Amino acid sequence: MMYKSLLTVCTATLLASCTTMEEVKDKAVGSSGDGSKIRNVIVMIGDGMGPQQVGLLDSYVRYASDPVLDSSAFDRMATEGVVGISRTESNKVLVVDSAASATQFASGKLAGSEMIGADYEGNRAVSMLEVAQAKGKAVGLVSDTRLTHATPAAYAAHQQHRSLENEIAAEMLDTGADVMLSGGIRHWLPQGVNEEGSAVRQELEALTGGTISMSSKRKDDRNLLAEASEAGYDLSFNRTDLAASTGDRVLGLYSSSGMLDGIAHTQAGNGAERVQPSLTEMTAKALSVLEDDEDGFFLMVEGGQIDWAAHNNDAGTMLHEMIKFSDAIDVVLDWMKDRDDTLLVVSADHETGGFGFAYSRNDLPEGQPLDGDVFHGEQYKPNWNFGNVETLDRLYEQKLSYDGIFSQFDSLDESQQTPENLRMIVNTNTEFPITLAQARRVLETELNVYYVPDHGTLSAERFPLMHERKAFYVYGSGIRKNILASVVAEQSNVVWASDNHSSTPVYLFAMGPDETTDAFKGILHTTDWANEIIAVLD
Ligand code: MG
Ligand code: ZN
Repeated sequence: MMYKSLLTVCTATLLASCTTMEEVKDKAVGSSGDGSKIRNVIVMIGDGMGPQQVGLLDSYVRYASDPVLDSSAFDRMATEGVVGISRTESNKVLVVDSAASATQFASGKLAGSEMIGADYEGNRAVSMLEVAQAKGKAVGLVSDTRLTHATPAAYAAHQQHRSLENEIAAEMLDTGADVMLSGGIRHWLPQGVNEEGSAVRQELEALTGGTISMSSKRKDDRNLLAEASEAGYDLSFNRTDLAASTGDRVLGLYSSSGMLDGIAHTQAGNGAERVQPSLTEMTAKALSVLEDDEDGFFLMVEGGQIDWAAHNNDAGTMLHEMIKFSDAIDVVLDWMKDRDDTLLVVSADHETGGFGFAYSRNDLPEGQPLDGDVFHGEQYKPNWNFGNVETLDRLYEQKLSYDGIFSQFDSLDESQQTPENLRMIVNTNTEFPITLAQARRVLETELNVYYVPDHGTLSAERFPLMHERKAFYVYGSGIRKNILASVVAEQSNVVWASDNHSSTPVYLFAMGPDETTDAFKGILHTTDWANEIIAVLD
């Protein structure tokens, strides 16, 4: 057992503590009286958030000249809760993808790569959300990606492959989580909306308020929004609607695909012109709806675009994603303050990109005399450039994500898609200016379709690193972003291993009553800590 009964605690401690425990029990409305004080479980997943990504935020908070956060939520978790380490690999492979990883930490079962809610033998893997639901608890899913994307999907669907997002949407509706807030409406709209001027398009445009692109990925005429409405969901499509929603079942879909990326989110600020709710607003709303259930609740919140920024090797956007996710954790920590009936677990599915700062032989430091009694005025001159902390300010100052930079570039008339214009867009929106030659290299490499063997035009001389390791850049035209990151590396000291995932173990933070969080210390596999949570819920 991971938790002691009230009786054990009382007999083992002073009377004063007993009183405290009784008070806690009184506060836990609807406590089952079976000894478990935990009514609510909240899991928060930073997708792609390895130790390096947490470290980036930590460095920013400590060393930026004017950080927007006083402290990171991870620091708060580590100080007030416990820290463990989580191994993430799936069945018989070294590297995990988000679907298999989420399946594992949602169900406690070992999964195969790219599966959603199935164990490695192909059996249905019941998730902790489904366990909580069976116990009468309210359940919710929040993500800033798409509701049908791998991480939320693994809690409420069982499919052979993560790409089956139309099927996942229908299944998630069947599972019927009480609160579902995210992006990705394109998998919930009937295919008929793709026809300009069709009645169904007009109807759904009116329903959604005209702020979301009406394009469907579905291959059928199912209108899952209408089905959700019939099932009793309060629908919302923008920030105002979500704030005004009073239902105890809420489905909110706020974008066609992913929601605002970290930089767009920062740039949008809190102004009325921001149509989408923020991750913190969705998290706060989910808590306020779910906390009304007398049996308690289960909630999963995902900061899902840390991974996307890292796939792009876009360190500035990744920093903004980390700030966004830290803010959402702070909302939960504030809500949990003075409660003793809630377990919060914060972790990641894997690290993305093999991110890190590295030292270089570029721009070597000048020697300087040191007065200390070891140096006595002799020159201090390290051999390498170990990276200036001022880089953290420059990363934060980025105004457009790499996705945004290339979509702006691609939206130019084809005759205007020149190295000069790429340089202009990059240099207007980032603090790491590129030369015309570098802009040319980014674009030339793109034209050369690097992954076609023997195409011949991507010479080892032009891009030796990518050439040797091109098999580890799997996302086609996304390579432009990786090469952009690579050409500014000498200025930023930021290096990346690939455009995909690494196998590094990730942090595992837990907060709640000590007797519950003790189980999260040590080196655990994703399935281990999932099973600890399932034991608490069950
Ligand atoms: Mg994810
Ligand atoms: Zn990923």
